[in-house]
Amino acid sequence: MADTTSLYKRKVYFLAQTFFIKDNQAELLLCAHKYDFDIQFFDQMAEFVRTAVQADPEDLYVVDLDVLYNMQLDDNRTMFLGDLLRRLPQQHHYVYLQTEKQSGRFLLQKMLVDNNCLAYAEKPIANDVLVDKLFNLFAQRKRDETSVVLYLGDQVRFDTALLATQQVNLIHHPDVQTLHLVVKQMQPDVVVIEDSHYLRTEVIARVLKKNIEVDPSLEIVLLQTRPDTALARKATDSGFDQILSLTDSDVLTHQLLNRISKIRTDKNLISKDRATGLLNKIGFKKRAQDVIRRASRDKVALALAVIDIDKFKTINDTWGHYFGDIVIKRLSLVVGAHMQENDLLSRFGGEEFVMLLWDCTVQTARERVDKMRLAFGDIAFEVSHIETRHFSFSGGLAAYPALKTENELFLYADEQLYEAKQSGRNRICG
Ligand code: GH3
Ligand code: MG
Ligand code: MG
Repeated sequence: MADTTSLYKRKVYFLAQTFFIKDNQAELLLCAHKYDFDIQFFDQMAEFVRTAVQADPEDLYVVDLDVLYNMQLDDNRTMFLGDLLRRLPQQHHYVYLQTEKQSGRFLLQKMLVDNNCLAYAEKPIANDVLVDKLFNLFAQRKRDETSVVLYLGDQVRFDTALLATQQVNLIHHPDVQTLHLVVKQMQPDVVVIEDSHYLRTEVIARVLKKNIEVDPSLEIVLLQTRPDTALARKATDSGFDQILSLTDSDVLTHQLLNRISKIRTDKNLISKDRATGLLNKIGFKKRAQDVIRRASRDKVALALAVIDIDKFKTINDTWGHYFGDIVIKRLSLVVGAHMQENDLLSRFGGEEFVMLLWDCTVQTARERVDKMRLAFGDIAFEVSHIETRHFSFSGGLAAYPALKTENELFLYADEQLYEAKQSGRNRICG
C-alpha cells in the first residue's frame, strides 16, 4: 500500500486482515487525521515488518491478531501466535487487537505481555474509541520527568548509571544533620536512609515529614544492611513508608525503580489531564511555583499566557461534544509544538490552557502566542466529509517579575483575556 507521505506529526502502522482494512480504513483515517496522526495499513506481514524495522521508534504499531486466520508460513503451515510474535521487530512496542475469545485466554495475554506489548484491546472497538486510545498512548510516551532520590548512607548501593537511564537522579548526602534542608531544597520523590544513620537519629522521618513545604507524597525508605525486625518495626512506627533489605545492587536498584514508577503513576493521575496528557490545574500550580522560584534565583523573566477557544459552546452545540473534544486536543498539539524546554503548558479546564514561558518578556510572549494563534487558525477541521471549518482562540498575557506570584500572574492574564474577548476575539492582549 502506498505511503501517504506524511503531512501529519505522528504515525501508526496497522497490520490487519484485508476485509477489516476495507471496512474501517476511511473512518479510522478521518478520526486519526483530526488528532494529527496518520495510519498506514498493511495486510501483508512481510511488508509490515519491512516498514516497521525502518520506522521511527516513537511511532505506534498495531497488530490485529485476526491476521493469524489468513496467514501462512512459507512452507504452507498455518501461522500460530508464536510465529507471528517472533517476526515482529524487537525494538518496538505493539498494540494488540484481539477477539473476545482470544482475550479470555490468560496464556495468550501472557504471550503478548512477554512480547513488547504496550497495550491490548478487545474487539469490537469503535473506530473513534480506538483512535482516542492511540492518541492517549502517544501522549503517555512522552519522556518521564526526572525523579530525585536522596540517599543518606555510607556508600551508594544502587546502580546510579541504570537509574540515570530511567531519568532518576540519585544524590548522595551522607549528613543527617542537614538532610532536612536538602529535602526542602531538592524536593526529592524518595529519601533512602541506611539503618546505621537511622540509629543515630531516630526522629529523622518525622523531622522530614512535618515540614509544611515538603511534598506530602515524599516516600521515606529504610535500607537495612542486616535483618533486624525490632528496628524495622520502630522505623515503620516513626514514619518510614517502606523497608528494603540490602541485597544485590541490581535487585535493589530495580526495587527502587518499581517504586518510582508507581510514584510517577500516582503523581500523573493527580497532576495530569487524562485527555491531553498535559498538566492540569493542580500540576501546573505546583510546577509554576518551582519555576518562579528558579526565575527569582536566576533573575530570569517569565510570561504567563491564558488562552481560551472562541465561541466554543457553539462548536459543541453544532457538531457535538465529541467533535469539541477533538478541537481541544488539536489545540493542545499545536500549542505543545511551540513549547520550549523550560516552558510549562497546562489544560486548566474545558477549552482553556495556561502556559508559563521561561526567559520570555511580554513582547516575545505576544509574538510566540500569536504564532500559535495563527497555526491553530490554519487548521481545516473536517466537520463533515465535504465541509471544513477554521476556529480561533483569544489570549491574555502577564509578566514576571512585574507580577510576583502564580496567582497574581494568572488573575492579570485572565483580565487581559477578557479584554481580548470583549474587543472582538481571535487576538492576544496584555
Ligand atoms: P468565548 O468565546 O467567550 O470563550 O465563548 P465560549 O462559548 O467558548 O465560552 P464558554 O465558557 O461559555 O463555553 C465553554 C464551553 O465549553 C461550555 C462547556 O460546556 C464546554 N466544555 C467544557 N469542558 C469541555 C470538554 O472537556 N469538552 C467539550 N467538548 N466541551 C467542554
Ligand atoms: Mg472558557
Ligand atoms: Mg471559550
